[in-house]
Amino acid sequence: MLWSRHGKKIKCELCARECLIEEGQSGFCKVRVNKNGTLYTKTFGKILTMNIDPIEKKPFFHFYPGSQALSLSSFGCNFRCQFCINSDISQNYKERDARNYTPEDIVKLANQKKVKIIAYTYGEPTVFFEFAYKTARIARRYNIKNVFVTNGYLTSEAVKKIGKYLDAVTVDIKGSLNPELYKKYCSVPDVEPILTCLKKFNKHRVFTEITNLIIPKIGDKEEDNRKLVEWITNNLSSSVPYHLLQFTPSYKLTDLPPTDPELLEKMAFRSKQLGMRYVYIGNIWGTDYENTYCYNCGYPVIERTGMFVNNINLGPSNRCPNCGAKINIKRE
Ligand code: SF4
Repeated sequence: MLWSRHGKKIKCELCARECLIEEGQSGFCKVRVNKNGTLYTKTFGKILTMNIDPIEKKPFFHFYPGSQALSLSSFGCNFRCQFCINSDISQNYKERDARNYTPEDIVKLANQKKVKIIAYTYGEPTVFFEFAYKTARIARRYNIKNVFVTNGYLTSEAVKKIGKYLDAVTVDIKGSLNPELYKKYCSVPDVEPILTCLKKFNKHRVFTEITNLIIPKIGDKEEDNRKLVEWITNNLSSSVPYHLLQFTPSYKLTDLPPTDPELLEKMAFRSKQLGMRYVYIGNIWGTDYENTYCYNCGYPVIERTGMFVNNINLGPSNRCPNCGAKINIKRE
């Protein structure tokens, strides 16, 4: 899907890299290959990991809170993040470890396990787009929801295609979209396509949550967080759930410390002051930022411990039982 011929080369139009691929070569992600003038994907039906997780683990805090999601991934990535927490899926994977599934198998499994959400996650779903697309289409017929956890580097055409079948997306931002960090530590030339992608998901009415990984020294400027928050409130909505994530030393960046919890609390507080209604701190349990509070009166409408929901205290139509304000939450 999403490619065109240019002489003997192929232009891949799936992600914003738009690789021009020579005959016999693969794109930057290594999983899309030009074979005799046709673009093939190596990831279709090749599932490297699959589990049933709380939806909060993705994270989604406002999309069917307390639900389970059949979560799966193939291999490969269109980024090269040096701090990837799933590098055994994205970079150092063994293709032979993947198991074969059809889209029908995945939907059948979700039905057997009585799970009403399929999450395309762990690795980057962009690079197993065709499999996700076909699975999502079938899942829709069974009233199963589909969600992506993505780096947000899809082209507008890709968003348009998957947008019809996607119910929600979490877009993972690294270091508040600091362009230098993206270049140096993720091998991503430009952050603009991520902003375009977010606007397109919004246009296609895909429910959106955003994470922002705060990496000590290289992506922890409060000023960058302010710019990102202002962009979200101006271009999407102040009701987008916003998760500030603690960095944990991983993959090639093991010499950096975990993010200081105090800095995360400061950034979370400031993000709320700037108008964000629902701000969370992820990867640390027990902070004041794991419950959902009514933006109007501060009443705790969802109480959590880490990724586990303890109580949902919402009135009819997802209104705060204390003041009646409407909370931006999707659920039955
Ligand atoms: S998905 Fe992105 S990285 Fe992979 S071949 Fe296509 S444009 Fe290149």
